[in-house]
Amino acid sequence: MNRRALLFALLLTLAGPAIARVGSGQHYSHSSSSSGSRSSSSGSRSSGSSSWSGGRSSSWSGSSGSSSSGSSSGIPYSGPSADPWILFFFGHPLFTLALIGLVFVAWRSYARSFGATASTQRAFEEADGREVGPPSAREVTAWVDALRASDPDFDLVTFLDQVKALFLRVQAAWSGGDLAPVRRDLSDATFQRFRVQLELLRAQGVRNVTADMAVLDLHPAGLERTSAFDTLDVRIRAQARDADVPVALSPEQAMEKARRAPLEPFVEVWSFVRRPGTRSRKDGVLPAGKCPNCGAPFDGGAAGNCGYCGAIVNSGAYDWVLAEITQGVEAGSAPLEVPGLDALRAEDPALSLEVLEDRTSLLFWAWIDGESRGEPGRMAKLGTAEFLSEMTADLAGLRSRNRARVFLQAAVGSVAVRAIESGPATVLAHVEIRWSARMGVVPVGASPGTLATLPQRWIFTLSRKAGVKTDQARGMATARCGNCGAPLGDSVQPTCDHCGATLNDGAHDWVLARSEPFEVWAARARSEAAPAAAAPAPRAGRDTVLDAAERQRLLYTMAAMAAADGKVDDREKRMLKLCAERWGVPYENVEMALSADPALFERLVPPPGPGAEAFLHSLVQIALVDGKVDRQERRMLEGAAARLGLTPKLPELLARFGLG
Ligand SMILES: [Zn+2]
Ligand SMILES: [Zn+2]
Repeated sequence: MNRRALLFALLLTLAGPAIARVGSGQHYSHSSSSSGSRSSSSGSRSSGSSSWSGGRSSSWSGSSGSSSSGSSSGIPYSGPSADPWILFFFGHPLFTLALIGLVFVAWRSYARSFGATASTQRAFEEADGREVGPPSAREVTAWVDALRASDPDFDLVTFLDQVKALFLRVQAAWSGGDLAPVRRDLSDATFQRFRVQLELLRAQGVRNVTADMAVLDLHPAGLERTSAFDTLDVRIRAQARDADVPVALSPEQAMEKARRAPLEPFVEVWSFVRRPGTRSRKDGVLPAGKCPNCGAPFDGGAAGNCGYCGAIVNSGAYDWVLAEITQGVEAGSAPLEVPGLDALRAEDPALSLEVLEDRTSLLFWAWIDGESRGEPGRMAKLGTAEFLSEMTADLAGLRSRNRARVFLQAAVGSVAVRAIESGPATVLAHVEIRWSARMGVVPVGASPGTLATLPQRWIFTLSRKAGVKTDQARGMATARCGNCGAPLGDSVQPTCDHCGATLNDGAHDWVLARSEPFEVWAARARSEAAPAAAAPAPRAGRDTVLDAAERQRLLYTMAAMAAADGKVDDREKRMLKLCAERWGVPYENVEMALSADPALFERLVPPPGPGAEAFLHSLVQIALVDGKVDRQERRMLEGAAARLGLTPKLPELLARFGLG
C-alpha cells in the first residue's frame, strides 16, 4: 500500500470527529426539513397550525437524523485494515508525533473557520429545543383558585374533559367538512379560519381526512385575566394519521387512504376565553341543543343567535369559547406593552385586546380568502373603501398578467396588537400577524405544483372612527354588524344585509385600512415619525430572531433580494447556503423559493430607506445571537448592506450594538 494514501486515510480518520461535530449541526436542518415536509402534508389538519410550526416541530420530531453523514464518511477508512497502521505508528514515533502536530494545526484552522457557525447554530438549537415545560402544580392551583373566586363550581378535571371532547368533535367536524356541530364553541375568527381553510382545500379539489386521532395528554398552560376576559390556555398533545384526498373519493375510500398515512404526533395550544364572572354549570357539561342563556332549543345554526332570547351564544358571556389555536411558543411568550392602549381605554373602557385580535384574525382569513379567489368583494364589509380599491387594482394587475396567488395550508402563528394611535378623527390599531403558507404566484387555472412554505410577518392596520365604543355584548362574536348585531352576510356590499348600515367606514367597528409586510410597515412608521408605531425595542427583537419561523422569513427575504435582479450567482448562493446552515433553516426550501415565479417575492423585498434599515437591523441581531459577529457574518452583513444600499449606514448600526 502506498504511503501517501495511508497518510491521507489517517488524516481523514482523525478529522472524522471534527467533521462529525460540525456536521451534527446539519442534523437539525435535516430533521427539520423532513418535519417540514411532514407538516406540509398534514398542515391542513383542522388548525393548520402544524404547517406554521415548520422548523419548530423539530423539537419533537427531533433527533432521528443523528446518524450524521460526516462521521460515516470517515468510517470506511478506519475499517478492518487499522491494525497494520497501528504497528506502523509504533515503529515510527517521531513521524507519528509530527503527524499529530500537523493534524492538530489543520484541525485548529478548520475549527476556527467553522467554530462561529457552530456557536451561532448552537444558540439557535438551544432556543428551538427549549421545551415549554408543564407549569408547576402550584401555578395551576393558583389559576384554579383565581377562577374559583368568582366561579365556585369551576372544576379543572371537568374542564379538561370538556376540552378533550371538543378537540375530538372539532377534528370530526373538520374531517366531515361540516362545522355546524361545533359552531357555538368557536369565536367568529376561529370559525372563519376553519371555513376558509376548508373552502380553499375544496377549491383545490381535495379534502383533509384524519384517522386514529387520539389525545395523548393535555394540561393548562396559562391563565390571563383582564377586565374584559379570562383566557385559559390548554396545551394538547395528540396524534393522528392524515391525508389530503380527492373530494370525489367515497368516505370509505378516503378513510382507507388516511389509515395508510403514518401516525404523526403534534402539539397545539388552544386558548379559551369567557367573560369574568361567568359561572360553570354544576353538571359540568353544556346542555347540547339548548340556548345557554334561556334554555330554549338551539341547534347551533350558522347565526349563533338564540331564536328566543337573542343571546349570542359564542360571545364568551355564557361559556368558554375557543378563541385561538397556536403553537406552544407564541402562547407562552409574555405580552408586550401596547403603546396607546391605556389612552384609548380611558375613552372606551370595554376595549379588549382579545376581541381586537379576534377581529384581526377574522380580517386576515377574509383577506386570504379574497386574495386566493381573486375576489376583493369578500372584504367589502371588512376593509376601508381605499383598501378595497387598492386590493382590486392589485388583483386586476395580476389577472392581466394571467397570474393568480395561491395560499395553501395557510396557518396563523400569532396575532398581537403592537400599537394604538389615536388621532382626532380616526384611531388606528397596528396588529402583528405571524403566519405561513405554501404560497406561489401561478398562471391562472394551472396546478400550483411544489410550493415552498413561506413564513410571514405582517402588520394589519385596523381603523375605527374616534369616539366609537366596543360593544361588550357581542364579545368574541366579531363577524357581526356593529350597528344591529346581525351576523355579516355574504353579499359584496359594504353595508349590513340586515339593517343597511354602512360597515366599511369604521363608524361601528374596526375595519382593515392596510395590510403590509413588517418591513414596509416599519418604514412607514419611521418616516411618519409616529412614536407610538415605532419599530419594536431591540430586546423584543432578539426574542423574535430566536424564533425559527422568523429566521426562515429573513432568509427568504435575503433570497428575494438576491433574486430581485433576475439571477442568483454562485457567490450569492454560497452566502444563502451558509446562512441557512447557521440559522438552522433547510436550504432545500430556499432553493425551492428561488426557483419560484419572481412575482412571489415582489412583496417581500424590503423597500429602500427605513424598511431596508429595519431588515438590516434584524440581520445584525441574528449574527449577534451568539454574542459576537465573526468574519463571515461581517461579510454577509456587508453584502446585504450593499444590496440594500446601506453600506454607509452599516458601521453606525454596528456601533449601536457596541461593535466597532
Ligand atoms: Zn336563548
Ligand atoms: Zn346591521
